[in-house]
Amino acid sequence: MWGMKLPDIDRWSPSVVVVRGQNPGPFTGPGTNTYLVGNGRRPFLLDTGSGVPAYLPLLEQALERECGTDAPGDLLVTHVHADHIGGAPGVLARYGKRAVAKHPWPGRDERFDLELTPIRAGDVFRTDGVTLRAIHTPGHAQDHICFYLEEERALFTGDVVLGAGTTVIPLDGGDMADYLASLERMLDLELARIYPGHGPLIADPKGKLREYIDHRLERERQIIAAVRGGASTVEAMVERIYVDTPRALWPAAGQSVLSHLHKLERERRAVRSRDPAGEEHWALT
Ligand SMILES: [Zn+2]
Repeated sequence: MWGMKLPDIDRWSPSVVVVRGQNPGPFTGPGTNTYLVGNGRRPFLLDTGSGVPAYLPLLEQALERECGTDAPGDLLVTHVHADHIGGAPGVLARYGKRAVAKHPWPGRDERFDLELTPIRAGDVFRTDGVTLRAIHTPGHAQDHICFYLEEERALFTGDVVLGAGTTVIPLDGGDMADYLASLERMLDLELARIYPGHGPLIADPKGKLREYIDHRLERERQIIAAVRGGASTVEAMVERIYVDTPRALWPAAGQSVLSHLHKLERERRAVRSRDPAGEEHWALT
């Protein structure tokens, strides 16, 4: 999926244009999707990519060609990860000061030199022809907001649901139990489509969400089987479970495994101990 070739600018609905962040890589797939949302001359820019210089000329082209305007409106950011917020300073430098709105994550937001407007769950953002409602969806990141586009019953899912690949649940700010709960809440929205933070449009939200939930529950079963089979460390579990995954991604896989283990620990289904060398070992209860 890293090499997946997608158009740099693409219109996905009368109100939604995707502009690729020009930052492909093992964790970003074909790069971050940034979106111009709205029918008028001040569309929201939803996510900003990572700040790659090649992005700004594309954004300008999309604004002119697709929106008939020369600048975006306010910026809405799904979460603080650098491939989503990192482009914001460059956009402000190019187009001038405007709001950069996101759900606060104290201690993390300060890494970016930005004056942020706090988003709270349920906040509504309007511009010509579109109504976006903020939905707090922690799990991948504790500050993660998905934006529900009421006119289309569509959801901008950031990194919670991707058009390609699977979401990493990082140790820093991630939480597997929260993540599964966020996916379940998305199912309740009866979505018509998903605009993901990476990869192509998702036309079958229910199928994709079910697939995501099933995938995590299957991983949990695999972890339990690995522990039962004698793998007591995260490294040993990753080695058994992620045989088909490139080794470069194993550290990230390890974080997801550990996140599952923390969930099992909270559910009192797993316990950990340390050996004399300080290494952590897991067992089932
Ligand atoms: Zn992320």
